[in-house]
Amino acid sequence: MTKVSAIHLKTGEEIDLMRHANQVVAEVLTLLENEATPGMTTWDLDRLSEECCRDLGAAPAFKGYYGFPASLCASINEEVVHGIPSRKRVLREGDIVSLDFGALYKGFYGDSAITVAIGHVNDRKARLMRVTEESLYKGIAEAQAGNRVSDISKAVQAHAEGAGFSVVRQYVGHGIGTQLHEAPEVPNYCAPETSSPRLQAGMVLAIEPMINMGTYAVKTLGDRWTVVTEDRQPSAHFEHSVAITSTGPVILSNRV
Ligand code: MG
Ligand code: MG
Repeated sequence: MTKVSAIHLKTGEEIDLMRHANQVVAEVLTLLENEATPGMTTWDLDRLSEECCRDLGAAPAFKGYYGFPASLCASINEEVVHGIPSRKRVLREGDIVSLDFGALYKGFYGDSAITVAIGHVNDRKARLMRVTEESLYKGIAEAQAGNRVSDISKAVQAHAEGAGFSVVRQYVGHGIGTQLHEAPEVPNYCAPETSSPRLQAGMVLAIEPMINMGTYAVKTLGDRWTVVTEDRQPSAHFEHSVAITSTGPVILSNRV
């Protein structure tokens, strides 16, 4: 992941372009949520995502990013993030699948993720999904000018750990704009030893809790992309791109 040290503030016009990019992402995710059913493969979802994105006049952002071979990240059950779509990965009743999609529109990126249930899922998985999405919104509520990035982190962590789940440390949220990943990093846990940047109007952040049912420890599989929980218990992931404005956080990737 490329790190840019300076935080790039966006103008109102730039935020409007980012809203457009993120609304493409939102539309893709809504389509996938509606289409994902038992018997489909993650390859099918990848094809749908890319077609929908291009039909809406944007380019899929992840394809080719550091060599990623697909448009969509599709991570099933114990897979945390960066699952590679495959004709061999069939969705089954009771699975949860995290769908992370990015779009590039007129030079600006959008990035958002949801975790969806395939058919009926057990109560533990349903609760993990619910708490992860709630954690995202707890974090977004702290995305206020004058707060620090760590206020977002604290809110996410408190909600997820308060429910008995754990917060992935190894992957974090990020600034977003003309680069998919910009400064600052937005961790979902508090790292007390680091000083955390102050939030200001014009910053756009991708806030993205990755919450595990068991241990927070993760590892990368031999395909060099797919990240799984070390204990192979399920994981969920929700993400929004959020603009910080003088009147509070604005979710650019909102799905209506
Ligand atoms: Mg994402
Ligand atoms: Mg992201």
